[in-house]
Amino acid sequence: MSAWMQKQQARTIKPAADKPSEVVTQYRISLYKEPPSGEVCIEEFERFAIDRLRVLKGIEDAKTKGFKGDQFHGLVVQLAEKHLKCLTAEETRWKDAVSHFVLRLAYCRTEELRRWFLQQECELFRSRFKNEMPTSQVDFMKRHNFAYEALAGEEYEALRPDLVKVQESIGSTAFATEIKQSASRDAFFKVPFEQVPDLVASRRVLLRGGWAFVSRQQVASLVVGHFRAGLSHSLAITARRWAATIADEEAERLTPIVLSLSERYLGPDYGDGERRSPQDVVTAAQVPFLAKQSFPLCMQNMYSRLHADAHLKHWGRMQLGLFLKGIGLPLEEALKFWRAEFAPKTTGEKFDKEYAYNVRHNYAKEGKRTDYTPYSCLKIISTPVPKGDAFGCPYVTLSPAELAEQLQALRLPSETVRDAVAKSKGKHYQLACMAVFEGQHTCICDSGINHPNQYYDESRKVLLEQQDAAATVTVPEQKTPSVGTAKAADVSRSLQHTPAADAHAAVTGADA
Ligand code: SF4
Repeated sequence: MSAWMQKQQARTIKPAADKPSEVVTQYRISLYKEPPSGEVCIEEFERFAIDRLRVLKGIEDAKTKGFKGDQFHGLVVQLAEKHLKCLTAEETRWKDAVSHFVLRLAYCRTEELRRWFLQQECELFRSRFKNEMPTSQVDFMKRHNFAYEALAGEEYEALRPDLVKVQESIGSTAFATEIKQSASRDAFFKVPFEQVPDLVASRRVLLRGGWAFVSRQQVASLVVGHFRAGLSHSLAITARRWAATIADEEAERLTPIVLSLSERYLGPDYGDGERRSPQDVVTAAQVPFLAKQSFPLCMQNMYSRLHADAHLKHWGRMQLGLFLKGIGLPLEEALKFWRAEFAPKTTGEKFDKEYAYNVRHNYAKEGKRTDYTPYSCLKIISTPVPKGDAFGCPYVTLSPAELAEQLQALRLPSETVRDAVAKSKGKHYQLACMAVFEGQHTCICDSGINHPNQYYDESRKVLLEQQDAAATVTVPEQKTPSVGTAKAADVSRSLQHTPAADAHAAVTGADA
């Protein structure tokens, strides 16, 4: 890898002709045992990696949304086609190899990153392998010297009735019929039984004389096992090399790109808060009300801490400030909001001197005038939180007991609380957040939660739809006001962002 990295900025995609490697010559799937040899320009180094990241994130999203079986594998193959396919098969294989090895660097550095990368890469490999013709699958196994021999001839004929029975017993009736009706070639592999403990334990495989007869539908699991073990080992080695040499050697050039890749969020950046339509603009007075109704727990907590302490440390101000910018709080309103929240402990003069600059800085009105965008879940979750600070993702930072207490205070159903705490314990932080969203809004969240501003936008959208539905159901039927219409009107009022309505609601806690 380092020889490849040391090449200077070439301008074209160029596999090395003198040293053909498996990944850039003839095969569509690879175990990525050796890095590609050739030149790649810096822009492509990054672009290829981002394209592969889109595939891996898509895989994670599909799993989150509950895609399974053939539907899931079809989607994974489509994602790979969309983001990794190039004009020629050779370019596609080159891009596939380069992007894999760049992300290996980016995701080798911590246990959590390695686990994530390994999971998504295994799913990608499994779907691609399943998508290959049976003959290519056999070729692949032979090429990599897997000790799997296709069952054939007299031995196959003798075992055929028992193989059919096993397939029927595990519910693979279509496959069982196929075997019954024709002498299907390469339908089973003869494998030492100790290599398939899971299939043996779950009685999903025929055993004879120390051999297990694994169907071609099960063989992907075997090959993925090899892929997983090899990649896991390689990631550990890459992590050591990265820390020992590569990070320093490439400090000026590749290291910043590699470090940013593992924090890259690929959805919308929600940086256009100031360009929202007038009816979506938020005022300082509306923030407390909206916090209660539509902020994710991270932002609710920061807002509560700010309100209780009349102060928030630097990173908290950045995280909450950029989130508020993203939901449509204009600069003038942001200054008003922060000044009012700080007022119990900080005079207006002191605020203007010490804090107003930071607020304007977030809005690109000071310093380098960078238009900062709100932080994604990925960034918030992966940023270490110093003790006593209020920022960060509560599904990461709170203990199970603290989290349960906070969620109970939101009056969520106890089932939702249990579910979210279990997901947080299992390090599925965004799934925990999604469970809370669904419990709070009594709806399914198809898109998953990837960004606090997405949580907010989805919440406003759902509440608006619920308001419309309530109006549709009740209003046309009523001649005089009734309980039903009153409810619709209440929801309607709660969704309007008119300053007068929300200021009143925010300050008094009463309906506007
Ligand atoms: S998962 Fe994302 S939106 Fe939810 S609390 Fe954590 S950082 Fe905030």
